[in-house]
Amino acid sequence: MAAAPQVPFDRIHDPVLRRIGERVAASQRLSIADGLALFRTRDLAGLGALADAVNRAKNGDVVTFASNQHINPTNICVLRKTCVFCGYARLPKENGAYRYTLDQVLAEAAQAADGMTREFHIVGGLDMKAGLAYYAEMFRALKANFPHVHIKALTAVEIAHIARIEKMPWRDVLVALKEAGLDTMPGGGAETFSAAVRERISDKKLAGAEYIGVHRTAHIVGIRTNCTMLYGHVETPDDRLQHLQMLRDLQDETGGFLAYIPLAYHPDDNALGKELGRQGTATTGWDDLKQLAVGRLFLDNFQHVKSHWIMVTPQLSQVALHYGVNDLEGTVVREKIYHAVGAQTPQAMSLAEILRLIRGAGKTPSERDSFYRILRTEFDATPVPVGAS
Ligand code: SF4
Repeated sequence: MAAAPQVPFDRIHDPVLRRIGERVAASQRLSIADGLALFRTRDLAGLGALADAVNRAKNGDVVTFASNQHINPTNICVLRKTCVFCGYARLPKENGAYRYTLDQVLAEAAQAADGMTREFHIVGGLDMKAGLAYYAEMFRALKANFPHVHIKALTAVEIAHIARIEKMPWRDVLVALKEAGLDTMPGGGAETFSAAVRERISDKKLAGAEYIGVHRTAHIVGIRTNCTMLYGHVETPDDRLQHLQMLRDLQDETGGFLAYIPLAYHPDDNALGKELGRQGTATTGWDDLKQLAVGRLFLDNFQHVKSHWIMVTPQLSQVALHYGVNDLEGTVVREKIYHAVGAQTPQAMSLAEILRLIRGAGKTPSERDSFYRILRTEFDATPVPVGAS
């Protein structure tokens, strides 16, 4: 059990935040009303100090990252017209539509032959021709060719899609994919759980309760998962907190979540951004930091909160290390999904750059595996390939 947080009350100026700080110092769980007060505060630095105290009690000053590689095998998606925030998906005959063959997946994965990549992060569209056999064959081939690389693949939405086209229960799909090599699942596809928000931004997508149901089933069959929230579009602070409450409840039940990762909405090149007149105006740094800090404080049963630098920039992710964040997205190669909606960030970050960001924030970098086990904390200028350390 984590030590009680040492709350720095001298750095918190908002009296409401100080009262919540007393509850945090006593390790008491926060309510939705507390969460709303956290979103309302103008004392952003005080909120960060509070979230940092909780993070330090759980993780000390260690900040982790993993060397991973994103592979997006298909952008063909049956929800192309109804997920109005998405700029990545295509219909089968549309310009730019693609579905990798197994050889193409292996060719892209071959970058892992450098020995540094420890995880494949594999997600894509809901493609009618990418069913259980497509992914099972892919995972088997990846394991055969890159046995040292962990496979984190398929969101809850993709699992439910495969189950639907194969007419199988979620559980059977998960068991079959686990047998083929699936190790853990990413947390994408959550968007914001509120039914009203979903109706507006992703009308036909798996409902929030079903997303939770797929993750519960995954945890039961021994597949640990991450979870996310897409924020900064049409949702309210209350929607965000109801979403966090559903994640916290499932974590109480199963303990199967590894990390919470808030994902900032990008308005470029998608229908929602045009409708809202928000082209070129992504979330603000103020909101990004609040979203991370509130997640850290509300999700008292989560060990890890990750900042996704692809969406909020490496610079803001560095600052977020003092707002409750203890994990940075890894060295991502060829990220397509957020760059399709206007992310201007680099598509990959070198080990040296990640170390520079973490050390620059006064924290201790540690490379981890996909289960958040620390692999090494000592680094020289040359990255050590897997198996050589
Ligand atoms: S967000 Fe996912 S499910 Fe929705 S259209 Fe894009 S790829 Fe398809």
